[in-house]
Amino acid sequence: MLFKTEAVVLRKNKITDADVILTLFTRKYGKIRAVAKGGRKPKTRLSPSSHIFVYGDFIINKGKNLDKVSSVDIKESFYNIREDLSKLAYASYFAELCDAVIVEGVTNNRLFDTLIKGLYLITYRDQGYDLIKIAFQLQLLDFSGFRPEIKKCVNCGGVKFNKINFNIHQGGIICDNCYSRYDDSMLVNSMIIKVMNYILKTDITTVSKLKLNPSIIKRLERIIDKYIEIHLERKNFKSLEFLRTLEQNLS
Ligand SMILES: [Zn+2]
Repeated sequence: MLFKTEAVVLRKNKITDADVILTLFTRKYGKIRAVAKGGRKPKTRLSPSSHIFVYGDFIINKGKNLDKVSSVDIKESFYNIREDLSKLAYASYFAELCDAVIVEGVTNNRLFDTLIKGLYLITYRDQGYDLIKIAFQLQLLDFSGFRPEIKKCVNCGGVKFNKINFNIHQGGIICDNCYSRYDDSMLVNSMIIKVMNYILKTDITTVSKLKLNPSIIKRLERIIDKYIEIHLERKNFKSLEFLRTLEQNLS
């Protein structure tokens, strides 16, 4: 049986010298793994679509054990991303994050759209990737059920805040009354919460135009990277480690 869906390649794994298995984020069916015959060989019909980030209409042949890519009508190959180490590091992290949260048979259209927009931003912008990353992370958390609570106390629902403490393990802000029970909380300034709130309700392309103090971005990055580690229960994102190594070498 053949079916057609928009999809992005999140990952490719070699299975033979000629063939690869593509992990696809599809709009209609969530995560799908499908064999691309000849995907590793130049000049075969499927080789142009057997690259990470390729976005297009995929026609897939449902197999008994494994699905097979039948043909692909490429909308955007995001070729530039694969030609620039910094772009590649950020975009690979987006793909790895999506791979970690999406599941087979479950659609996530908001995340799908945000991934496409994120890849376009990384492709066509020369800078500001750190803000795009924060926006992508926060929205991914929201769209996959891990939205941080930043409106009211995550413990009691209270709204009494002289100082705002954020508790990563609890998943949100802690009010003055509850603060003493969560001594692993961190004091954050109200700007951090304002920016988080703005990002959680604003399209990623609009967020990317925001002018923010670099120290705010750094602070947000530390909180959100840690939040993802705890709530997605994943310590190691290979692409994030690569990204950090790259940043150290460039700074
Ligand atoms: Zn409370």
